[in-house]
Amino acid sequence: MKRSFSWQAGSDHPDVECGVRGVRGRAEPESATVLIVDDDARLRNSVRDLLLAYGFRCISADSGGQALEILSGQSIDLMLLDLNMPEMDGQQVLTRVAEHFPETAVIVLSGESTFESATEALRRGALDFLRKPCAPDELYRVLKSVLHKRGLEQEVQAMQRRLEASEQRYRFIVDNSPDIIYMLDEKGHFSFLNERVLSLLDYSGEDLLGRHCSELVHPEDRDKARFAFAERRTGRRASSNVEFRLLCHDRGQPDHSPGLHSIFVELSASGIYSDNNKKGVYLGTYGVVRDISERKRAEELINFQLFHDLLTKLPNRALFRDRLELALSRARRNQSLLAVMYLDMDRFKVINDSLGHLAGDRLLQAVASRLRSCLRGSDTLARVGGDEFNLLLPDIAGRDDAAMIARKILDQLKVPVIIDGYEVFSSFSIGIALYPEDGESIEELVKSADMAMYHIKGRGKNGFEFFSDNMKGIFRKQVTIESGIRTALKEHQFELFYQPQMDLCSQRICGMEALIRWRHPERGVILPDEFIPVAEESGLITEIGSWVLEEACRELGQWQRAGFTDIVLAINLSAAQLVQADFESSILGALKRNGIPGNRLELEITENVLMQDMDQAASRLQQLAIQGVRIAVDDFGIGYSSLGYLQALPLHTLKIDRSFISEIQSPDDRNSIVTAIFAMARELGLEVVVKGVENEGQVAYLRRLQCSRAQGFLLGHPATAEKARALLQR
Ligand code: C2E
Ligand code: MG
Repeated sequence: MKRSFSWQAGSDHPDVECGVRGVRGRAEPESATVLIVDDDARLRNSVRDLLLAYGFRCISADSGGQALEILSGQSIDLMLLDLNMPEMDGQQVLTRVAEHFPETAVIVLSGESTFESATEALRRGALDFLRKPCAPDELYRVLKSVLHKRGLEQEVQAMQRRLEASEQRYRFIVDNSPDIIYMLDEKGHFSFLNERVLSLLDYSGEDLLGRHCSELVHPEDRDKARFAFAERRTGRRASSNVEFRLLCHDRGQPDHSPGLHSIFVELSASGIYSDNNKKGVYLGTYGVVRDISERKRAEELINFQLFHDLLTKLPNRALFRDRLELALSRARRNQSLLAVMYLDMDRFKVINDSLGHLAGDRLLQAVASRLRSCLRGSDTLARVGGDEFNLLLPDIAGRDDAAMIARKILDQLKVPVIIDGYEVFSSFSIGIALYPEDGESIEELVKSADMAMYHIKGRGKNGFEFFSDNMKGIFRKQVTIESGIRTALKEHQFELFYQPQMDLCSQRICGMEALIRWRHPERGVILPDEFIPVAEESGLITEIGSWVLEEACRELGQWQRAGFTDIVLAINLSAAQLVQADFESSILGALKRNGIPGNRLELEITENVLMQDMDQAASRLQQLAIQGVRIAVDDFGIGYSSLGYLQALPLHTLKIDRSFISEIQSPDDRNSIVTAIFAMARELGLEVVVKGVENEGQVAYLRRLQCSRAQGFLLGHPATAEKARALLQR
């Protein structure tokens, strides 16, 4: 109707274009295209002329058939239709138009004006009925009115179509939203739910319509969700991002009731009011619910990682402190007791180094699960370091309870753990501190338990000990010594003394043992027994060991250059030095730098240290032995009962512990162990050094045994480097 056209109607009726277009897009009646259908050419032409004069566009058709043909080719706003026509009369045309061209308005203009034909025409869809001949004003008025009405109708239809399309669009958006979108009535019952509720909670919208929103909320979260779900507030005060759990549909329940399975959601909602502000009547709530289960899972994992040890899945130090803090405030309130244990696995490093880290990890896991099996649900066991665990026992009746648990733990570990086919035995040193007597704060309790643990470690391990006040003094002293050692290393306060070893047959000095001294600026000379254990405990021993090696080799180099080329210098090694990555290279390097042949240096290692990791010790010492370096077993005879290692290691010397010789006073005394050691050493091709020779009787006794090397106060005290050099010269 709005386009122009150029169709040539019948031969004698060219189409005419004229009229004015309305400003709002809808065709004004005058610019409408009118199809005049009449078999009477005269009448057709006169109507056309009349309408052209009014500004209409006109097309004429002389029959019903031609009219339908024109309609199918172009859009016609209005048809003026005669009823009486040959072949196809006006009523038939009306029927066809109603069927195929419903948008075309039809006015009947007919000579036939019976009531029946008029009614019939109106029934078939004609909008008005005019009798021929018709006054021009009347025709114009009716045409205008019909076209106006039709225009309005079409506008409404177009609007409706637009509305439908828009609603479809919105529904699509709402139903395909990744979130649940809901509306509640003013009493909190669901009045609308989009389709997301099906995929998320397994409900269809209909299941929930009319039900109260709280039915969907997990019982534990109902308080939290009550006001948010049926939010009445609007704007910034309305609920946003409130987290709680929604229950999913339990398929097993016929009444659509929620099951126990739930998901975490985040809800934002706002009240709906009749006139869009809070002064209006409250109509209900509109809200959006987002599934945040994935995020929650990620948060939980991160939280777990933050507060747990991932290897054993036990709480870590941070969580332990948190639990201890809670337990302490409860104990304070209830005036009850609690115990804190510090557990340190004995010899874990040895197992880790010998069987490998994977096996070490598996041992830790197995041990953690055994420890857990000894505990109640309310106890907290935490892994606070490589092989260190803390245990909190809240609400104990007394120290017997704690002792019982410690015993249980030690018993549990008596059965070996099987790893890679090996039976691995593990044990713990356990220190116990009690609240309130051994400390009232987290720090005090953990420290007291730690001190007690060190105490039992120093006394043979594999046991437990309660904290006692005199440990405090010991601990304080150890801390002072430790910081003193650091200063001593920095300020060169360490010094080596040398104690001679004599060949009792030739009465000549054949060797020296380097013994460390700490020349303390205030306390004078401090002996190693006081600081070496602390250095070993704190790890400072490796630094001290390196210094001793360098210093001893420097001195030995000077002896070599002074012509004392047959003197063997012995130095003492600690366990930590033997496992250092550069153990062999540092020794060989020191020898080379000072021009010393390997066989002038002897490394004294105690039985206990050698046994900690035999395989590693054997392979590392072997490399040194190849270069001639001598290996001595220090304190021989008091450590291990098994002697198998004597053949497995590249040994040269056995240094017999002082205790064996101390009882001998005269050459006629008998000590079968000493005799046996000499016999065995001879058999194995090993040299024997006897320590602690203090009197002539012992010298005579040893001479009878043909002892080649002896050491003791009688033969020479440990002395400064200067004095040792003078002694050599003499
Ligand atoms: P050790 O290896 O058994 O050294 C011998 C200890 O016995 C020395 O004590 C020495 O002074 C003492 N001694 C020597 N002859 C006699 C005697 O006739 N009677 C008695 N009662 N004692 C005698 P010192 O120098 O106090 O050393 C104690 C321990 O400290 C050493 O025992 C050794 O295990 C350790 N040590 C000393 N220097 C070092 C070092 O440089 N590194 C390491 N890791 N440990 C060292
Ligand atoms: Mg020694």
